Amino acid sequence: MGGEEGSSVCGKCKEEITGQAMKAKDTLYHAEGCFVCLTCSTDLRNVAVYCKDGQLYCEKDYKTNFVPKCAKCMEYILEVSGLIINYSYSVSSLSIYRLSTDV
Ligand SMILES: [Zn+2]
Ligand SMILES: [Zn+2]
Repeated sequence: MGGEEGSSVCGKCKEEITGQAMKAKDTLYHAEGCFVCLTCSTDLRNVAVYCKDGQLYCEKDYKTNFVPKCAKCMEYILEVSGLIINYSYSVSSLSIYRLSTDV
């Protein structure tokens, strides 16, 4: 599978991607260095990835930043709206792409 030639731009650094890329939703990211949590820079290749406004977050930071806590039990409220569920990705739903490099 050669993939498409041409421009594949990283959703984080906006640089062209050559080599290995990660895909979340419709956006590609450099597998090295760019597929990380916006907040804590954790490598997201082996953990659940959360996406909001085109930015990637680890589960912890996504919850901290965007998911309200129940005022009573302090558990996160993940069912607030269908939206939040739609933004989560399990590791198995991520795709790894190897883009052709000019050698
Ligand atoms: Zn990048
Ligand atoms: Zn994080």
